[in-house]
Amino acid sequence: MKINIIGAGLGGLLSAASLAIEGHEVEVFEKLPITGGRFTNIEYHGFSLSTGALHMIPHGSTGPLGNLLRKIGADVEIVPCKPMAMIRIPANGANDYKSGFKDISFNQYGSQFSMWNRLKLSILLITTRRWPPKNISFENWIRKYLNEDSAHKTANSFCGWALSLTNRDVPAEEAFEIFENLYRYGGTGIPMGGCKGVTDALVEIIRSNGGIIHKNTEVSRIIVKDNTARGVIANGKKHYSDIVISNIGHPFTRDLYESGTIDNAYEEKINNAKPSAGIKICLAADKPLIGHNGILLTPYCRRINGINEVTNTDPNLAPSGKHLVMAHQSVQQENIDKLEEEIEIGLQDLKEVFPNNKYEVILTQSYYDGWPVNRASSGSDIGNITPIDNLYVVGDGAKGEGGIEVEGVALGVMNTLDIIKQ
Ligand code: FAD
Repeated sequence: MKINIIGAGLGGLLSAASLAIEGHEVEVFEKLPITGGRFTNIEYHGFSLSTGALHMIPHGSTGPLGNLLRKIGADVEIVPCKPMAMIRIPANGANDYKSGFKDISFNQYGSQFSMWNRLKLSILLITTRRWPPKNISFENWIRKYLNEDSAHKTANSFCGWALSLTNRDVPAEEAFEIFENLYRYGGTGIPMGGCKGVTDALVEIIRSNGGIIHKNTEVSRIIVKDNTARGVIANGKKHYSDIVISNIGHPFTRDLYESGTIDNAYEEKINNAKPSAGIKICLAADKPLIGHNGILLTPYCRRINGINEVTNTDPNLAPSGKHLVMAHQSVQQENIDKLEEEIEIGLQDLKEVFPNNKYEVILTQSYYDGWPVNRASSGSDIGNITPIDNLYVVGDGAKGEGGIEVEGVALGVMNTLDIIKQ
């Protein structure tokens, strides 16, 4: 079959590589001069910063993405994070880090609760796996069952880091599906070479299996006849195909074709899927600021949700002897037009988190609208099917259930491949 793919982000490249090795004729159209979308590196004074992701794969080499990469023979090494995460807790029961702090591991986390709450936590850990909560936000669930301010703050910091949302915006059911996947697949990993290590390996598979990638080539139209996708128009030229896969999310895909009939249920789903926004602050340091390769969650910051230091895994992501530290903060929709103020609060937070350390802020990046953290925030994904036959959507606007970030992208791609094979 001939398959056209719009966008060379992770979802587009995963689809193209998987289909190319099965012998399909694959053509990818990418409007930018680079491949990888929000999952590749930006070289800056010897630091491998990124176009989006924090060089982390949520379930490491054993999750959906790691498994798919292995299945298609992508040459990527994913190093497990040990510890997966530490939580920075203020000293002396304070509400911020000004008078000191200590870092505790995820496993020790419950030890700071009252005896009664510790007991409740261990019962909840078992019962929620069997009977996941429904129709309640993660925030309300925690307030209802644990009533510990630090648990609420930590859940918020986890949701901010992992989903760029507050725990108010995450359905408890989705949060518990994510925890279930942590049990099922294991914890985070860092790909050697950062995000580019993954997407370049996919480009290599596509090319060596006869696939074509057109860079600097924007798709302006999806050709639709008799409610069926027949190809795309890119840089003014028609390219016919049996199937079109779009990697640009449902709303932007919807803008690229005329449809004779309006599918109201689909239009409503598109309108309800909200992208999540965030800010990333990249720091350079001569000495490690964190000292491990896992996530440092910072629940007592005003804005920063978490921080990582990927050079503890791959020193080549920074110039020799330097460390690359990346901090993430979620941005609420109502604050998108106040990004500079949000960045300033994030920078103040970092001064409290690293009070005695020297570092340089090398880049601040904000993500929203067409270049968001997530095209469909967790729990609001639309799936891979569109009202047009032979037109599918992959990527983080069409993630598989419970699939966090790029794991969800991989699940959505696998689902799409299964549909195409039927
Ligand atoms: P995208 O990256 O959205 O790529 C789509 C491509 O389509 C782009 O290259 C674009 O240029 C191209 N395109 C758009 N329109 C057209 C057109 N008309 N014609 C041709 N081409 C077009 N995930 C993790 O798993 N771990 C992390 O640590 C992590 N951290 C993150 C931190 C931040 C700050 C951000 C922003 C994201 C993070 N993510 C993380 C999420 C992850 O980066 C994304 O989920 C993933 O990269 C999305 O890939 P995608 O397949 O949706 O493609």
